[in-house]
Amino acid sequence: MDNTPVRVRIAPSPTGNCHVGTARTALYNYLFAKQHNGSFILRVDDTDIRRNTPESEQGVFDGLKWIGLTWDEGPDVGGPCGLYRQSERLDIYLQYAQQLLAQDLAYECFCTPQELEVERKEQTARKEDPRYSGKCANLTPEEREERRQQGLKPSLRLRVRKGAVAFEDIVRGHVEQDAALMGDFVIIKSNGIPVYNYATVIDDHDMAISHVIRAAEHISNTFPQVLIYEAFGWEMPHFAHLVLMLNPDKTKISKRKGAVYLGEFAELGYLPEALLNFCAFLGWNPGGEDTQELLSLDELQERFSLERCTHSNAVFDTVKLDWMNGMWIRRLAAEELTPRVLPFIIKAGHLTPQEAATPEATAYLTALLNLIHERLPRLDAAPEILAYFYQDWQLSEVDTTSILANKSNHTPEEILRVLQLAYELISHEPFAAHHLEEVFKQQAVALGWKLGDLLMPLRVAITNRKVSPPLFTTMELLNQERVLARLSLAMAGVKEAMA
Ligand code: GLU
Repeated sequence: MDNTPVRVRIAPSPTGNCHVGTARTALYNYLFAKQHNGSFILRVDDTDIRRNTPESEQGVFDGLKWIGLTWDEGPDVGGPCGLYRQSERLDIYLQYAQQLLAQDLAYECFCTPQELEVERKEQTARKEDPRYSGKCANLTPEEREERRQQGLKPSLRLRVRKGAVAFEDIVRGHVEQDAALMGDFVIIKSNGIPVYNYATVIDDHDMAISHVIRAAEHISNTFPQVLIYEAFGWEMPHFAHLVLMLNPDKTKISKRKGAVYLGEFAELGYLPEALLNFCAFLGWNPGGEDTQELLSLDELQERFSLERCTHSNAVFDTVKLDWMNGMWIRRLAAEELTPRVLPFIIKAGHLTPQEAATPEATAYLTALLNLIHERLPRLDAAPEILAYFYQDWQLSEVDTTSILANKSNHTPEEILRVLQLAYELISHEPFAAHHLEEVFKQQAVALGWKLGDLLMPLRVAITNRKVSPPLFTTMELLNQERVLARLSLAMAGVKEAMA
């Protein structure tokens, strides 16, 4: 690589939400910048003024911050380039356009949308690719003045040269297209607003962007951008176009088929660390001997390289994402998970926000999370898994069928006696998990019951479920009083079922 300082950028449109594709592009740019002691710039592509609100921009910033990315320059943090929103740079685009006009590299076009539509239809009818005919390419100053007098406002078009338009892509190698496919394209619309391809080139040049790393969707935009660089006589940045992100069925990921915005992933209980890690592998892998898949941002920074970006499209495999999420949940301590799980507990109605704010509630949840840590696939699963710690139930809801079910043909009477015995033991023995476990093991031997047969009715009585974390620790976390109350309720249920 030459000695030009590395300056890369992400240029999201302010859509109110941060798309996971934007997050991946941001991540690759970030990693590349960090590795080369470069700068990562956030620029807002907000020339579609109708859609822009401060909130729509904030949504994108928040998403990027949630996933753990920060930028060195941008509209919110400032930087040497001053203006980082395209909407604030409209004068700059017009000034540069004057330069092209003066050199006759661009011209004014007075064609109305209706005329262009007619032209497009005729071309399509002739089975030609629609492109501008060049009708206004050679208007005389008088003709232009005449149109102006008629109240027509011109757009500006670039004069597109003949021949191949090519660039070297770091991921894809040599890419080229025949300029004839393009036709003279608009760079500034008749309302004075620049088109994306033009504004992007001006910004990338003005901000001394060294590498443009973005999604494959923009390859077709790169050809007109190359022509604009040529028209100005500017050196082009290096380009790297990342592969598409596809569903397992090879369709492009879209809102219709599942979550695509970072806020949606957060609501589904994905950890930002896991999603970031997952995104890193959507178009890159460390290769060679390195099979480590769980990587933090710092670890990714050590390994990332543009040269190892893949050529074949990336599959957005949510099964893999879930696996990674579970692994990341295990990687974090229960204390770290607690504040992240609490909002889900509140949302499920297990605690009010006031209750959740107490140190006791936090400590309790941490203890519960320690119990289920290994089995938690996503944070949003926690309220359901932990429901019986927060909610009691009524007699009519007692699962007597499961309490009475057993493979050893113990009768309902025997099971009732066992529940009664458990009640007495739990009332009188010291209430500690390891001690109770010993006591119940001895009881199983004394009764000649399999330990499993003894514990199953107890488990269902205490949790109203057939599967739970280790039973005696569960009891300890519920506390003695609640355990006894649930045993009483279960016995009442069994009696009712037997009657
Ligand atoms: N606003 C464009 C996008 O979000 C920027 C593309 C580019 O990086 O040039 O896709």
